[in-house]
Amino acid sequence: APQHTQDRREEDLDIAEAAAAAPDYADGIPEFTNEPDTDPSLPANQAWAREAMERAAQPGWLEAQPVPEQISADDVDGLIAGARAAAAEWAARPAAERAAVLYRTADILASRRGHLVSIAAAEVGKSVAQSDPEVSEAIDFARYYAHRALELEQVEHAEFTPDRLVLVTPPWNFPLAIPAGSTFAALAAGAAVVHKPSKPTPHCSMAILEALWEAGVPREVLHGVYPDERQAGKKLVSHPDVDRVILTGASETAAMFRSWRPEMQINAETSGKNALVITPSADRDLAVEDLVNSAFGHAGQKCSAASLGILVGSVYDSERFRRQLVDAASSLVIDWPTNLSATVGPLTELPSDKLQRALTTLEEGESWLVEPQPLDDTGKLWCPGIKEGVKPGSFFHMTEVFGPVLGLMKAKDLDEAIELQNAVDFGLTGGIHSLEPKEVRTWLERVEAGNAYVNRGITGAIVQRQSFGGWKQSSVGLGSKAGGPNYVMLFGQWADAADAT
Ligand code: GLU
Repeated sequence: APQHTQDRREEDLDIAEAAAAAPDYADGIPEFTNEPDTDPSLPANQAWAREAMERAAQPGWLEAQPVPEQISADDVDGLIAGARAAAAEWAARPAAERAAVLYRTADILASRRGHLVSIAAAEVGKSVAQSDPEVSEAIDFARYYAHRALELEQVEHAEFTPDRLVLVTPPWNFPLAIPAGSTFAALAAGAAVVHKPSKPTPHCSMAILEALWEAGVPREVLHGVYPDERQAGKKLVSHPDVDRVILTGASETAAMFRSWRPEMQINAETSGKNALVITPSADRDLAVEDLVNSAFGHAGQKCSAASLGILVGSVYDSERFRRQLVDAASSLVIDWPTNLSATVGPLTELPSDKLQRALTTLEEGESWLVEPQPLDDTGKLWCPGIKEGVKPGSFFHMTEVFGPVLGLMKAKDLDEAIELQNAVDFGLTGGIHSLEPKEVRTWLERVEAGNAYVNRGITGAIVQRQSFGGWKQSSVGLGSKAGGPNYVMLFGQWADAADAT
């Protein structure tokens, strides 16, 4: 994304003034532009970042932030009935009113950038470098979905009936952008939302919801709740009066939700096992940088992360390329977010069994190019690992591990590389580095990935430019992608106007 050229110290936003400044759309719908990230090279921004990380590290600071309301199984029916009733008034408002609330939300989030990055650091150890673009993405989601809701209202010959009630269940790995995105889209469409934060990140979710309430979303239309025990969560997720469940999380969670209520309407962005193919024609310097950043950014805890590097022919055999990879990996600064130079931060949770296996075991034919090492006794801070010789069909080829390990596979030619890339059950992101147009065309025609990137890293989709969503087992019931033109339309039903006559 573009970078902000000015200093990032925030001013208090006067919400009343912001409300008054909400655009009227007499001169047409406002153009959508992406919010710039913070330029870390400016001394003023460095001071801003330092202050944000110091705030996050203060004992008790996080705990003093708002938390979701705890609900028991007995509260679920009342909560859902109340939200459904309130949805009627929200849906009846003109799209312009709902859009104005979202534009205001975007302004509030922009005025709290430092607060938001502090919460993400305190809650999941996210560095400013990783969370600052997330704030931009959340702001983009608010403005883009407002923009699309306005455009959709102008579609003639069609009637849109929004969902009454949407349950949003976000993940912890993008604790600001993803909770924001699905909640904004559902509200833009005219639905009421019950938002159940991910267990590790209740405060991030609540910071997003607070901005929405302050911007004018009625309390009855938007609820942030946390079930007090499993039974309450199950009752909420499987409730027959929830029209739609939005999940971003593991494939196993989507399957569990479905097993609770097979007829539920669920739209889920789930796991990935993503590869970057590098052919002999590639700009290898750029390819190394993109591979390492895509693999180890946020310690590999992204659905979009590069978990496999598929190296074609002479790239795999090149000693120089190997050395470049080792150098790039050893130039990473691995530390907690108070170290502003850190490029790789901690795991949010202790390694799962799958990740533990990937970090500590070599399967047949594999060897370490860089062996992963725990850096302190928390078990969460790891120096990332790179393994070579990953065999087709092996555990590491096929399994999402969601952590700081990259596996290298050899392909004799591009055809074999595409076969290896497509052999996994998932199809979220994928990339190719090649300067040969014919190779790029072949790859684009055949790669099975929702987001296929050419000569770029494979994480960090930008709203409107690269809508985000997967194929195959990376997606359940998702007909349209987050940050794309059709996402708001997901939250309801369309009928040709003629159907009604
Ligand atoms: N949208 C993020 C990206 O493009 C990934 C989201 C996820 O991990 O679920 O990197």
